[in-house]
Amino acid sequence: MEKGLVIERVAQLIGVYVPSVGKTFKGIPRGKLLKRTKIYAGDRVLGNIVDAETFAIEEVEERKNILIRPPIANVDRVICVMTIQKPEFDNYLLDSLLVVYDHVGCEPVVVFNKTDLLDEEGRGELERWSELYSKAGYEVVHVSAKTGKGIEEVVELVEGDICILAGPSGVGKSTILKYLTGEELRIGEISEKTQRGKHTTTGVKLIPFGKNSFIGDTPGFSRVEVLQFVSRKSVKNYFREFLRYECRYPDCLHVKEPGCGVKEAVKKGEISCERYKSYLKMLREYLEELSEICG
Ligand code: GDP
Ligand code: ZN
Repeated sequence: MEKGLVIERVAQLIGVYVPSVGKTFKGIPRGKLLKRTKIYAGDRVLGNIVDAETFAIEEVEERKNILIRPPIANVDRVICVMTIQKPEFDNYLLDSLLVVYDHVGCEPVVVFNKTDLLDEEGRGELERWSELYSKAGYEVVHVSAKTGKGIEEVVELVEGDICILAGPSGVGKSTILKYLTGEELRIGEISEKTQRGKHTTTGVKLIPFGKNSFIGDTPGFSRVEVLQFVSRKSVKNYFREFLRYECRYPDCLHVKEPGCGVKEAVKKGEISCERYKSYLKMLREYLEELSEICG
């Protein structure tokens, strides 16, 4: 059988890209797949080329993950697009995206866009935040979708991956997608509006770019409520830098417990106050001594 990747899922249409022939076919689910199996963009399938247009899908490989918004399976990477200025950087939003996407098993890449328009203060801020996120354990890239600077670095980082773009509106997601693929980003809100019946699914397409990479034509979260996706007690597992420290109690939430290694690390400046504050905000916790710790 041939291997294929579902790169298009719009209503009943399934587009299957077959790498061995470098072409997209119309996918037809067969036999036992017909009724039970849902097929998503991003699904890796096995099947046979029936004719010049048709690929008979016999099997859907096990998924490593599945995103609900947009509906894509096997997403390796989320490119979290942020800006320092225009619009102003919102670190709580970035921290929320990092937690939720890490939870579903998508490796985040932090991309600071619009570096061409930063003033001196902006450049200082860019360095400060970049160092903070690199130290925490994330890949950080500086780009300008206007001049193209840095984009190649992103392309190399995500080689071979299925990616999506996430981040607030106005940061340059559409411009980046256009630069990478020549195509337009479809805005989630608009397609939701045109959705007619309850059962109409919003289509999604994966567009090839770079070296064997694919990117969703619909953005992921622009804003996300962490506790809707992650339980209160597991949020701490997605603050990577916290995992380097030990606490007296294994179930320590790093808030008011004695012998908390994470809080100690915040006091010593090894964990940044900004990240720790985001964590407390996600848990909706207030720490009286925070001003003593973080100044
Ligand atoms: P989106 O809402 O995240 O999809 O953002 P857009 O791609 O629509 O970009 C918002 C605005 O910022 C547009 O006017 C873009 O031309 C502009 N823009 C995007 N990237 C850059 C960049 O790197 N530098 C500058 N100066 N402007 C940019
Ligand atoms: Zn602790």
